[in-house]
Amino acid sequence: MKEIILLKEGEIALKGLNKRNFEDAFMRNLRHRLKGIGEFSFHCDQSMVYCEPADGVDMDDAVEMASKVFGAAALCRALVSEKDFGCISRDTLEHFAKELDRARTFKVAAKRADKNFPMKSPDICIELGHLILERFPHLTVDVKKPDVVINVEIRETNAYIHTGNRHAAGGIPVGTSGKGMLLLSGGIDSPVAAYMMAKRGVDISCIHFASPPYTSDRARLKVERLCEKLTPYIGDTAFYCVPFTKIQEALRDRVPSELFTIIMRRCMLKIAQKICEKKGLQALITGESVGQVASQTMGAIVCTDEAAHMPVFRPCIGMDKTEIVEISQRIGTFDISIEPYEDCCTVFSPKHPKTRPVLKEVLAAEEKGGFDELIEEAAENTELKVIKL
Ligand code: ATP
Ligand code: MG
Repeated sequence: MKEIILLKEGEIALKGLNKRNFEDAFMRNLRHRLKGIGEFSFHCDQSMVYCEPADGVDMDDAVEMASKVFGAAALCRALVSEKDFGCISRDTLEHFAKELDRARTFKVAAKRADKNFPMKSPDICIELGHLILERFPHLTVDVKKPDVVINVEIRETNAYIHTGNRHAAGGIPVGTSGKGMLLLSGGIDSPVAAYMMAKRGVDISCIHFASPPYTSDRARLKVERLCEKLTPYIGDTAFYCVPFTKIQEALRDRVPSELFTIIMRRCMLKIAQKICEKKGLQALITGESVGQVASQTMGAIVCTDEAAHMPVFRPCIGMDKTEIVEISQRIGTFDISIEPYEDCCTVFSPKHPKTRPVLKEVLAAEEKGGFDELIEEAAENTELKVIKL
């Protein structure tokens, strides 16, 4: 018997004239993410994407992966049957025997998208319900809270039978909302920021600042593993690694220690921006959350932001740490994030950073330090590695 994955569009279904573009992007992303699992063919009809596997595909793996691709509100793994009540009932009794055997109560729910089908939905429910009770006499019908729901959907070319939808990833397809550069540390917040912006369709590249020998190779590899962990959600991604040591040493030597972190963050934005301009990316993304640490007070953010002439998206800005942690656990980045490797942010970081920095003083200290050449050099020497799913 043939199975299929049905993905019900979420927000895409509400798009107007360019809905087709969103659907194409969604199917393209699905095809790419499922490539390692097997061959699939895709088509889309009435806000439903049909994802048909070739023979021998592991459907558990396929459903798991498809549930991470942004663009659908719900998905299910369904049995494909002919549009004939005899076939539908035969296939249901055979395919769902295990579930029905284990259950104590059940109900049948039917939907008829094709109104030419000769039986009406309530009739399908009654007749199929009877046949199920005959074959599995231990069962009783419970329409309110059944152990198993047998859903029958009569659509254009086939009937589809399944035991219910599960949540899909939501959002809109990656690649439909422009390109952004995520400042990715090894911490908990920035991977969550990547996930959240990808959910809104942004194509994500990642940039990481490393300060060897103060930060180790293993710290950098940890960040690459975070990228890999994100790929089911964000797709293949460009990973830029910036040699940041010289700038940090210059900052240590040339600026007042209480302004070190702010000016360092401004340097980060400036370098990231240079690479965005070269590569045609339109926005920066960080994992900052207002008030979380000294560099993320409102005053510090004002001073940092002044260094950017492109928008800086901070999707975690209004979230508590516990909310961010919850997402990072769900998307699987948490366990890597908490591995205890050093980040460049903690190298030379002052004991008493200014929580209320004054922009004029920051700009004056930065000017005096003369970091432009070092910024240019760091951007030039940035390494690129493509991280694939
Ligand atoms: P995270 O959990 O994302 O590391 P955090 O709470 O530790 O965040 P900070 O260390 O102040 O906060 O960093 C704030 C943001 O700055 C990060 O979310 C990230 O976007 C960026 N950032 C910090 N360190 C780096 C780095 N080494 N490379 C790239 N971006 C960084
Ligand atoms: Mg950090």
